[in-house]
Amino acid sequence: MDRAREILKKTFGYEQFRSHQADVIETLIGGGDCMTLMPTGGGKSLCYQIPALVRPGVGIVVSPLIALMQDQVDALIQLGVKAAYLNSTQDMAEQRAVQDQLLGGELDLLYIAPERLLSQRMLELLQSSDLALFAIDEAHCVSQWGHDFRPEYQQLSALADLFPHVPRIALTATADQRTQAEIIEQLRLSGAAKYIACFDRPNIRYTIAEGGANREQLWRFLEAEHPEDAGIIYCLSRKKVEETAAWLAKKGRVALPYHAGMDAATRRDYQARFLRENGLVMVATVAFGMGIDKPDVRFVAHLNLPKSIESYYQETGRAGRDGEPANSWMAYGLNDVITYQQWIEQSDASKLQKQVERQKLDALLSLCETTSCRRHSLLTYFGQEPTFDSWSASQSEKEKSTQSELKGELSAQGKSGCSNCDNCISPPETFDGLELAQKALSTAYRTGQRFGVSYLIKVLLGAEDERIIQNRHDQISTFGIGKGVSDKEWRGIFRQLIARGYLIADSEQFGGLRMSESCRPLLKGAEPFQLRQMKEAIKGNKSRRKGASGAKNKFAAVHQPLYDALIALRTKLAAEQKVAPYVICHNRTFEELVQLRPQSISQLYDISGLGESKVQRYGEALLQVIAENPVNEALQNTLSDTVNQSLRLYLDGHQPEAIAEIREIGISTVYGHFAEAIEAGLLDIQGLELIDDDAIHEIGRTFEEQNILETGQLKPSYEALEGRYSYGILKCVLAEKVLTA
Ligand SMILES: [Zn+2]
Repeated sequence: MDRAREILKKTFGYEQFRSHQADVIETLIGGGDCMTLMPTGGGKSLCYQIPALVRPGVGIVVSPLIALMQDQVDALIQLGVKAAYLNSTQDMAEQRAVQDQLLGGELDLLYIAPERLLSQRMLELLQSSDLALFAIDEAHCVSQWGHDFRPEYQQLSALADLFPHVPRIALTATADQRTQAEIIEQLRLSGAAKYIACFDRPNIRYTIAEGGANREQLWRFLEAEHPEDAGIIYCLSRKKVEETAAWLAKKGRVALPYHAGMDAATRRDYQARFLRENGLVMVATVAFGMGIDKPDVRFVAHLNLPKSIESYYQETGRAGRDGEPANSWMAYGLNDVITYQQWIEQSDASKLQKQVERQKLDALLSLCETTSCRRHSLLTYFGQEPTFDSWSASQSEKEKSTQSELKGELSAQGKSGCSNCDNCISPPETFDGLELAQKALSTAYRTGQRFGVSYLIKVLLGAEDERIIQNRHDQISTFGIGKGVSDKEWRGIFRQLIARGYLIADSEQFGGLRMSESCRPLLKGAEPFQLRQMKEAIKGNKSRRKGASGAKNKFAAVHQPLYDALIALRTKLAAEQKVAPYVICHNRTFEELVQLRPQSISQLYDISGLGESKVQRYGEALLQVIAENPVNEALQNTLSDTVNQSLRLYLDGHQPEAIAEIREIGISTVYGHFAEAIEAGLLDIQGLELIDDDAIHEIGRTFEEQNILETGQLKPSYEALEGRYSYGILKCVLAEKVLTA
């Protein structure tokens, strides 16, 4: 293990192993098999990369993600690891060169697709090579019940017989308990050590909004939280992908579509752009993203329901792999629920399979409809005990308490939980919806349980509709009893009735709703029915803009110039080497650099993410950029960060109007910031050159006449000067007076 720690520090630049990494690595080095569940961003790949480097021979990594192999190998080469890949994107000569390297024992790691691994030729090559281990990545692909089933994965069981003395590790970031069992069985890993890391991704904020695929809602979310960030937006259909991407592009965002209907070259090109460019939004079907390893994806948005909780977890897991705040945002509506129910009913799947799918949908819907912590629901689904601090604090509190009701009360009110999901941040209000539910259900009943939601709502609202009159549904007792509740609210009520299984969308009846057995107690009033109060998805999010958006506002302004210079250096290096920027350095490494400002090569080794190879390659360039961007003393002060941001831009040579535009704040706010800086003695009014000296004197005289230092009232002076100078200017002159008074 000493050797493993040395490699961790020297090659990868990290001090400590995370979570179960050390255990997994120790098992593999010792020749044992492993099965590992780790969330994306949890440091999965180190688990096999380090043992492959410690053990003699080459580590074979089986991965279905051909598009990613190159990035993975690029990243390893940057670290000084001898890595290569073999896949169909290479020509014969390239493939032969890699095979020669393999036979010559020149490789530490070789990435390879499963179907190629199992070819006779490849197996022969491997038989005559020295092998360190097999790593089977994305191991959930072995599961028939899973969402990414790949038949060739099941044949990987052969490795157990063919290479009995080579340790194997199966890794996945998503598997419920059933899939876990299947991985072990199919890959013949019954003797393997099992390590399951905590699935929590505390930096991801989960929000599930009502309202379906509503573009305006999406736009408000993007504007409020991610005006410039890279992210992924998932839609169900190809058409919607195209439309949404075009719409975003029209709105001024760099957005690209991605779906299986596009030709392979375009898809490859778009994926490469997403990986390499900053702030690009990918609008995609689920065809996009498997294994996407871009660390600074700041948001994942779903405009439709994902297929299951596993898919939701996996897709949202592509956000925030760098550990920085990120958003997972979903808008779902009534139509999603009905569409999915119909799909399941109409599919040709076996009875058993349909049952599994129904259960998965139900689990997902209950996550959507829950009024308590989303993260808690998610983690429990994966069989984990939530461990977030506020939760455990309230758990222990609860243990002390003898009142068993406390639990329900706490979670219903959102007082316990992760504090980073919509339900924890602004707990949804619920109300007694029994009467409304009964009205909705009896309308479905009295109209013969064969009409869809829109029709039923029209009846409830007493609409004069030809079809209703024809069907004589204007004669039934529930006609018009729903007035006073809006169409939108009724849709919400129906959605909750369907999501909770009281109403079932009938596939034979084109979306007609029939009642399930479970309606009985509800109709009798023998069961409570709490409804979620409708709320706007984005409400309350604005003030949190800073929390989850990109790196822009993260530093004290004093560090921003250095950070920007480092980013520029990285962009240049990445372009020269034709690799993705994060392959060179992660943002987090830069953040440490700007804060610690190392002055020598040896100090660079203290920065996480900088191992030997990177220090050798980039150390001098990094030190030079640090030297060229010293801390600006004017910005080392006690003023607020927002004042310093404006001040920095001013010191960089921007005029007030430009500062207002760059920062998207009002010009008067900028003057307000200047005034604070003047009062602190960091700027002087003459130096600002906002107005000439005569004007400054004129304003000064007026201030004296009005005795403004006593009154503090600007308005009389403003009026006395006939509005020739804005309040902003007056504030700045006043600040100077205060300073010199
Ligand atoms: Zn929560």
